Amino acid sequence: MKSSELRTKYLNFFEKRGHKIIPSASLVPENDSSTLFISSGMQPLVPYLLGEKHSQGNRLANSQKSLRTEDIDEVGDNLHTTFFEMLGNWSLGDYFKEEQLNWVYEFLIEELKLDAKKLYCTVFRGDEEIGVPKDEESVNILKKIFQKYKIEAKDVDFSEKNGMQNGEIFYYPANKCWWSRSGAPEKMPLGEIGGSDSEIFYDLGAKLKRHENSEFRNLPCHVNCDCGRFVEIGNSVFIEYKKTEKGFEKLKQCNVDFGGGLERMVMVSEGKNNVYETDLFLPIIQKIEELSGKKYQGYKKEFRIIADHIKASTFLLASGIEPSNLGRGYILRRLIRRAIRYGKQLGVEENFIVKIYPSVLEVYDGFYSEIESSRDFIVRQFEIEEEKFEKTLQTGLSELQKMFDGIRALDLITKDVITGKEFFDLFQTYGFPVEMSFEEIESMATKVNYNLEIDKEKIEIEFEEEFKKHQELSRTASAGMFKGGLADNSEQTTKLHTAAHLMLTGLRKVLGDNVAQKGSNITSERLRFDFSHKEKMTSGQIGDVENFVNGIIKKDLQVWFKEMSLNEAKKINAMGVFESKYGEKVKVYFVGKGDENVSREICGGPHVERTGILGHFKITKEESSSSGVRRIKAILE
Ligand code: ATP
Ligand code: MG
Repeated sequence: MKSSELRTKYLNFFEKRGHKIIPSASLVPENDSSTLFISSGMQPLVPYLLGEKHSQGNRLANSQKSLRTEDIDEVGDNLHTTFFEMLGNWSLGDYFKEEQLNWVYEFLIEELKLDAKKLYCTVFRGDEEIGVPKDEESVNILKKIFQKYKIEAKDVDFSEKNGMQNGEIFYYPANKCWWSRSGAPEKMPLGEIGGSDSEIFYDLGAKLKRHENSEFRNLPCHVNCDCGRFVEIGNSVFIEYKKTEKGFEKLKQCNVDFGGGLERMVMVSEGKNNVYETDLFLPIIQKIEELSGKKYQGYKKEFRIIADHIKASTFLLASGIEPSNLGRGYILRRLIRRAIRYGKQLGVEENFIVKIYPSVLEVYDGFYSEIESSRDFIVRQFEIEEEKFEKTLQTGLSELQKMFDGIRALDLITKDVITGKEFFDLFQTYGFPVEMSFEEIESMATKVNYNLEIDKEKIEIEFEEEFKKHQELSRTASAGMFKGGLADNSEQTTKLHTAAHLMLTGLRKVLGDNVAQKGSNITSERLRFDFSHKEKMTSGQIGDVENFVNGIIKKDLQVWFKEMSLNEAKKINAMGVFESKYGEKVKVYFVGKGDENVSREICGGPHVERTGILGHFKITKEESSSSGVRRIKAILE
């Protein structure tokens, strides 16, 4: 089944069962500074799972663009990609286990025509310590579902030690079958909600060879082992508990969150065993074959990495991110450069990413219009980044050559001379991934017939350490800098960010106190701002807001912040998202001191120091965003 057909089928299936189809949220989280990217369908819906009312009701479904940079090392296997689509359906205090499990298996078996005999599932084992029992409710429902297909399903415990024992339903502990925002039950703070989940696996049949270092190498096969026989295609989370001082209590209002990978569903529905041979990747793979003159079959890993990374980069660029050395831009840069590097290994000529980009468009055929409508920006950025890498590539290579020449001249043992730190510097300064430095220095040695002794393992470990240190740093920086939907930390973006605070005050003055921020996205060119308001704004109202903001700019007020507890912020009526982050201090940004104070918002910054430098504020567009939400675009001239 083609991906577009499968996606539509899924959405129609749940629409028929009373769900409203909501659009995919942007890959860049709005009003959520805890992560750089949206990595699941549930993430943008967390406020609603916690009890906020959703304007579209209590049954929702969608296909959500997701990015998991933490899976980057797994890209190249048959199942993991950094960018993927997650099909999701949610019950916000409406239906529960019975409907969810019946529907999802009906969809898989009746609509996708998957063989019920190849489906396996997991449920929560229960945990006496936290007083949550085995999920027998799900087991009973699942058994009845299997019975419909003449399968007498058996529930089996401890398959991770004793193997499958001819079972279909397997109990697993919390590390596999529990969800909360903070992870395992013991990590949950009081008041937090969570619950068990039930994963769905598909039997690919063939057992693959285990890695010799695998933690499972001496254990029998089970659905969650790593031999490659089983693939997880989806997961139903049942949010039914709240952690209290007395233990886990059942919620009155239970939620369901289902997420299943589109790529993997297409794969199994087509009887394939890797996502790269589905129509979600084939046009890209074919294009790489054409450009490189090499065949996918002989270079699977390289092809997969190039295809995934260029696809992911396309979507990141379409969401307004530019390659840089920090935060989101840094991730984008790595993805692009890694793709170029693997392209070079296949011997492709320069400027090849822009040539692959059209095949990404072909895959999505208009479904995600942003990757087409931002065509000029995307092409330009790909070209610039490839050119930049090309430049540093030459200087980086000559640095590496110097390093090698030094070793050779003194006949030093490389392992004593080269440290991971040096390879990391090459990466930092010239964008050389560690494996590339290894390969290049080795080929330098081969060329002159020199016997290079290199302690790869040691260097890699040191490199990793340096990398982690850097990641921590950039994470800290990005957590502080990219809050509030900022695309980068350029001066213009910072100015627009401060202007956004002033505008919110202006909107509330002109339209009333029920105006609340619903999201924002700020690039160096413009600010985009969503807020709750029912009617279209009149040109008079727009003018009033502009005048208010420009008035504050003229006054040249000081912008300053104070750190305080969430409660203190509430007490002084600061605006912003009151996410329940227990005990954590928040920054509140103020504009103006004393009587002149016009704005106080919970916000991570950054902001300008005084309003005077903002220039002239202008609203360029006011339009509807979704029901009850208006969207403004504004600039500083
Ligand atoms: P896995 O163990 O295979 O990495 P997961 O436990 O991380 O999967 P979930 O977080 O439960 O997966 O995500 C829900 C679904 O999203 C999965 O069942 C799978 O179909 C899909 N999915 C998760 N990660 C990826 C990925 N990196 N590439 C493609 N699909 C994915
Ligand atoms: Mg995973």
